[in-house]
Amino acid sequence: AKAQGPATLQMFNKEMSTRAAKTLSLQNRLRRAIDHGELSAHYQPQVDLGSGEIIGMEALVRWNSPDLGMVSPADFIPVAEESGLIDGICEFMLDVCATQNKEWQKQGLMTIPVAVNVSGRQFQYARRLLSACERILSVTDLDSHWLELELTESSAMRDADNAIAVVNQLKEMGIGCSIDDFGTGYSSLSVLKRFPIQKLKIDRSFVMDITTDPNDAAIVDAIVAMAKALKLKVVAEGVENQEHLDFLRTLGCDQIQGYFFSRPLPAEAMGQMLSERRRM
Ligand code: C2E
Ligand code: CA
Ligand code: CA
Ligand code: CA
Repeated sequence: AKAQGPATLQMFNKEMSTRAAKTLSLQNRLRRAIDHGELSAHYQPQVDLGSGEIIGMEALVRWNSPDLGMVSPADFIPVAEESGLIDGICEFMLDVCATQNKEWQKQGLMTIPVAVNVSGRQFQYARRLLSACERILSVTDLDSHWLELELTESSAMRDADNAIAVVNQLKEMGIGCSIDDFGTGYSSLSVLKRFPIQKLKIDRSFVMDITTDPNDAAIVDAIVAMAKALKLKVVAEGVENQEHLDFLRTLGCDQIQGYFFSRPLPAEAMGQMLSERRRM
């Protein structure tokens, strides 16, 4: 039994350094990925339940690594946030999305805004984000109304005063913000109403079981009512089937996003969907 201590400790150390090494190699690969064109943007449409029309889209980063294959954002975004690579990824996304949006407009396709995800860290040191937005809008000559940002509720509430100030600065530039993953981050109503945002996105975890879990249904009902009271649009994420859709409709939800209407699509497929003016 005496020998077990050091052996366990050794194993623990080994495991720790393996994990650290993995993170480091992911970080190094990610750094190269940005320069080597391994990242791309996919787009998931958002549909208005009143008109059935596509009224927006969310851009989601994709990483196709030559040695790892497709890597999920759930795996590399946290690494990107820790290492500071997130700024470069966000700037890549802003650039690609603004350029693509402008291109679709030139092709005469229906013009709708594109929403890019931003991390809390970028809001903390917002000067870089603000100047990147300004630069990209000017380079692409895209009207700022077609660019939106999504900030998670937990990031928004961590330092709400700062986040409110940044959202205000973006608003002055004509860039609207939504609060993402809403319902998971303990907002207080009094803070929420100070955010000059246009949209709340209800987190997928509440939508998933909405038809079977009365607690989830009650939460979504409350979020929709609150959004209405604050005159905000409300989007439900992760809508996967007709039952989800019907239930959300009865609760008065404005917009939906999810596999039921469409998975996130590469630019070409998204352009095709826009050209067909596909409806719900
Ligand atoms: P999110 O911002 O909440 O994005 C929605 C996620 O749900 C996406 O996963 C999307 O593919 C997925 N999804 C959409 N509809 C459905 C559905 O009906 N069912 C299910 N099961 N899933 C659905 P994805 O693309 O893997 O992204 C995961 C997360 O990674 C995002 O969550 C976001 O937090 C982060 N992320 C993705 N792209 C970016 C980015 O460009 N920048 C930053 N900072 N974060 C990003
Ligand atoms: Ca999002
Ligand atoms: Ca979300
Ligand atoms: Ca989420």
